[in-house]
Amino acid sequence: MCSVRGRDWGMTGGGACAVCKHQRRKCEPNCELAAYFPAHRMNDFRALHLVFGVANLTKLIKANATDAGRRRAAETLTWEARWRERDPSEGCYREVACLRRDNAALRADNAALRRQLAEHHQLLLLCSGDMPAPAAQAMPVVCPATTRAAHDPSNNNRDSNVNTSNAR
Ligand SMILES: [Zn+2]
Repeated sequence: MCSVRGRDWGMTGGGACAVCKHQRRKCEPNCELAAYFPAHRMNDFRALHLVFGVANLTKLIKANATDAGRRRAAETLTWEARWRERDPSEGCYREVACLRRDNAALRADNAALRRQLAEHHQLLLLCSGDMPAPAAQAMPVVCPATTRAAHDPSNNNRDSNVNTSNAR
Protein backbone atom coordinates (compact mmCIF):
# COMPACT_ATOMS: atom_id res chain seq x y z
CA MET A 1 0.00 0.00 0.00
CA CYS A 2 1.24 3.44 -0.88
CA SER A 3 2.31 5.33 2.20
CA VAL A 4 1.92 8.80 0.71
CA ARG A 5 -1.54 8.36 -0.81
CA GLY A 6 -4.37 10.33 0.72
CA ARG A 7 -2.05 12.74 2.48
CA ASP A 8 -3.22 16.15 3.57
CA TRP A 9 -2.36 18.67 0.86
CA GLY A 10 -3.03 21.77 2.97
CA MET A 11 -1.40 25.12 2.31
CA THR A 12 1.75 26.27 4.00
CA GLY A 13 -0.04 28.05 6.80
CA GLY A 14 1.91 31.27 6.26
CA GLY A 15 5.47 29.79 6.38
CA ALA A 16 7.72 28.94 3.48
CA CYS A 17 6.83 25.87 1.45
CA ALA A 18 9.09 22.80 1.54
CA VAL A 19 10.68 23.72 -1.78
CA CYS A 20 11.55 27.29 -0.82
CA LYS A 21 12.67 26.20 2.64
CA HIS A 22 15.00 23.65 1.10
CA GLN A 23 16.28 26.21 -1.44
CA ARG A 24 16.67 28.77 1.37
CA ARG A 25 14.67 31.37 -0.48
CA LYS A 26 11.68 33.48 0.38
CA CYS A 27 8.41 31.78 -0.46
CA GLU A 28 6.42 34.35 -2.44
CA PRO A 29 2.62 34.35 -2.37
CA ASN A 30 2.63 33.23 -6.02
CA CYS A 31 5.05 30.32 -5.39
CA GLU A 32 4.01 27.65 -7.88
CA LEU A 33 4.92 24.66 -5.74
CA ALA A 34 3.66 25.87 -2.35
CA ALA A 35 0.21 24.34 -2.84
CA TYR A 36 1.67 20.91 -3.56
CA PHE A 37 4.59 20.86 -1.14
CA PRO A 38 3.71 22.71 2.06
CA ALA A 39 6.33 22.96 4.82
CA HIS A 40 5.25 19.75 6.56
CA ARG A 41 6.14 17.76 3.43
CA MET A 42 9.85 18.45 3.74
CA ASN A 43 10.78 14.75 3.81
CA ASP A 44 8.76 14.11 0.65
CA PHE A 45 10.43 17.03 -1.06
CA ARG A 46 13.91 15.84 -0.05
CA ALA A 47 13.19 12.48 -1.70
CA LEU A 48 11.82 14.25 -4.78
CA HIS A 49 14.83 16.55 -4.93
CA LEU A 50 17.23 13.59 -4.93
CA VAL A 51 15.41 11.80 -7.74
CA PHE A 52 14.20 14.59 -10.00
CA GLY A 53 15.87 17.86 -8.95
CA VAL A 54 13.92 21.11 -8.49
CA ALA A 55 13.97 22.20 -12.15
CA ASN A 56 12.64 18.87 -13.44
CA LEU A 57 10.12 18.63 -10.64
CA THR A 58 8.78 22.09 -11.43
CA LYS A 59 8.65 21.25 -15.15
CA LEU A 60 6.81 17.95 -14.52
CA ILE A 61 4.28 19.58 -12.20
CA LYS A 62 3.66 22.53 -14.55
CA ALA A 63 3.19 20.20 -17.53
CA ASN A 64 -0.32 19.60 -16.17
CA ALA A 65 -2.86 22.25 -17.07
CA THR A 66 -5.27 21.82 -14.18
CA ASP A 67 -4.74 22.05 -10.44
CA ALA A 68 -6.15 18.52 -10.05
CA GLY A 69 -3.62 17.25 -12.61
CA ARG A 70 -0.78 19.01 -10.81
CA ARG A 71 -1.82 17.55 -7.48
CA ARG A 72 -1.99 14.10 -9.02
CA ALA A 73 1.43 14.60 -10.59
CA ALA A 74 2.88 15.75 -7.25
CA GLU A 75 1.41 12.71 -5.52
CA THR A 76 2.63 10.30 -8.19
CA LEU A 77 6.15 11.76 -8.31
CA THR A 78 6.34 11.68 -4.51
CA TRP A 79 5.28 8.04 -4.51
CA GLU A 80 7.96 7.22 -7.07
CA ALA A 81 10.64 9.17 -5.20
CA ARG A 82 9.74 7.52 -1.88
CA TRP A 83 10.03 4.11 -3.47
CA ARG A 84 13.41 5.04 -4.96
CA GLU A 85 14.48 6.10 -1.47
CA ARG A 86 13.49 2.68 -0.07
CA ASP A 87 14.83 0.63 -2.97
CA PRO A 88 17.54 2.54 -4.86
CA SER A 89 18.03 -0.13 -7.53
CA GLU A 90 14.43 -0.95 -8.47
CA GLY A 91 12.42 1.97 -7.09
CA CYS A 92 8.70 1.50 -7.59
CA TYR A 93 9.20 -1.24 -10.20
CA ARG A 94 8.74 -4.06 -7.69
CA GLU A 95 5.55 -2.49 -6.30
CA VAL A 96 4.16 -1.90 -9.81
CA ALA A 97 4.94 -5.52 -10.77
CA CYS A 98 3.26 -6.71 -7.58
CA LEU A 99 0.17 -4.58 -8.23
CA ARG A 100 0.00 -5.87 -11.82
CA ARG A 101 0.15 -9.46 -10.57
CA ASP A 102 -2.59 -8.75 -7.99
CA ASN A 103 -4.67 -7.06 -10.68
CA ALA A 104 -4.35 -10.05 -13.04
CA ALA A 105 -5.27 -12.49 -10.25
CA LEU A 106 -8.28 -10.40 -9.20
CA ARG A 107 -9.45 -10.12 -12.82
CA ALA A 108 -9.23 -13.90 -13.19
CA ASP A 109 -11.17 -14.37 -9.92
CA ASN A 110 -13.76 -11.88 -11.10
CA ALA A 111 -14.18 -13.68 -14.44
CA ALA A 112 -14.55 -17.07 -12.67
CA LEU A 113 -17.14 -15.62 -10.27
CA ARG A 114 -19.08 -14.08 -13.16
CA ARG A 115 -19.11 -17.45 -14.96
CA GLN A 116 -20.30 -19.15 -11.78
CA LEU A 117 -22.99 -16.52 -11.28
CA ALA A 118 -24.19 -16.97 -14.87
CA GLU A 119 -24.38 -20.75 -14.37
CA HIS A 120 -26.35 -20.34 -11.15
CA HIS A 121 -28.67 -17.85 -12.83
CA GLN A 122 -29.23 -20.34 -15.68
CA LEU A 123 -30.02 -23.10 -13.21
CA LEU A 124 -32.41 -20.85 -11.33
CA LEU A 125 -34.27 -20.03 -14.55
CA LEU A 126 -34.47 -23.73 -15.47
CA CYS A 127 -35.81 -24.66 -12.05
CA SER A 128 -38.42 -21.93 -12.12
CA GLY A 129 -39.51 -23.09 -15.61
CA ASP A 130 -39.24 -19.61 -17.09
CA MET A 131 -36.73 -20.54 -19.73
CA PRO A 132 -36.97 -23.42 -22.18
CA ALA A 133 -33.54 -24.91 -22.67
CA PRO A 134 -32.32 -27.96 -24.59
CA ALA A 135 -31.53 -29.76 -21.36
CA ALA A 136 -35.00 -29.00 -20.00
CA GLN A 137 -36.68 -30.28 -23.19
CA ALA A 138 -34.69 -33.52 -23.16
CA MET A 139 -35.56 -34.13 -19.54
CA PRO A 140 -38.97 -32.55 -18.75
CA VAL A 141 -39.65 -31.35 -15.29
CA VAL A 142 -42.11 -33.63 -13.49
CA CYS A 143 -44.78 -31.62 -11.80
CA PRO A 144 -47.52 -32.78 -9.43
CA ALA A 145 -50.66 -33.95 -11.27
CA THR A 146 -52.82 -31.44 -9.49
CA THR A 147 -51.02 -28.47 -11.02
CA ARG A 148 -50.47 -29.61 -14.61
CA ALA A 149 -53.35 -32.00 -15.22
CA ALA A 150 -55.97 -29.46 -14.17
CA HIS A 151 -54.91 -27.10 -17.00
CA ASP A 152 -54.25 -29.73 -19.69
CA PRO A 153 -57.40 -30.42 -21.82
CA SER A 154 -56.03 -33.79 -23.01
CA ASN A 155 -56.08 -35.04 -19.41
CA ASN A 156 -59.82 -34.50 -18.92
CA ASN A 157 -60.69 -38.16 -19.42
CA ARG A 158 -57.89 -39.37 -17.21
CA ASP A 159 -58.88 -36.92 -14.51
CA SER A 160 -62.50 -37.99 -14.71
CA ASN A 161 -61.44 -41.64 -14.55
CA VAL A 162 -59.36 -40.96 -11.51
CA ASN A 163 -62.20 -39.05 -9.92
CA THR A 164 -64.77 -41.76 -10.68
CA SER A 165 -62.48 -44.53 -9.46
CA ASN A 166 -61.89 -42.61 -6.29
CA ALA A 167 -65.61 -42.03 -5.92
CA ARG A 168 -66.29 -45.78 -5.99
ZN1 LIG B 1 7.54 28.24 -2.00
